[in-house]
Amino acid sequence: MHPCLTCGACCTQYRVAFHWLESDAHSEGGVPSHLTEPLDAHRLCMRGTYSAPVRCVALDAEIGVYSRCSIHPQRPSVCRDVDASWEFGAPSGQCDQARIVHGLPPLTAADWRWRDPAGNDDDCPDDNGNSPSSPPAPPIAA
Ligand code: SF4
Ligand code: SF4
Repeated sequence: MHPCLTCGACCTQYRVAFHWLESDAHSEGGVPSHLTEPLDAHRLCMRGTYSAPVRCVALDAEIGVYSRCSIHPQRPSVCRDVDASWEFGAPSGQCDQARIVHGLPPLTAADWRWRDPAGNDDDCPDDNGNSPSSPPAPPIAA
């Protein structure tokens, strides 16, 4: 399972600020404007992320148990820019720090093994739960 689906920590740690042009008041399919508040002359932020304790209003989560962004297709660009650690082969300081604050271990490359192709499963069932195929029969001597 994708680690973010049982986490959500980063949505409770950082101010989520972005240009007002990203709002659905200005861009079709943009960030729902009623979930934002003005930050300065050029930027909005997600409600709940500019005051302590930080928790984005769009977050539906119990941190470390389950998590989803209720506006995932319309989330701000800054949210899209935060990679989970090792999802793309490199650590993410924001991801690691957010998880540590919640007492969750930073992700490692091993947390992404579920994505690996079935061919690396050797004698184990593959990622879809299928049993490995039988090895080819040895050649029969004439
Ligand atoms: S802290 Fe990392 S693992 Fe948790 S939701 Fe954010 S990106 Fe995903
Ligand atoms: S908009 Fe979604 S991804 Fe971004 S901080 Fe809020 S809940 Fe998290």
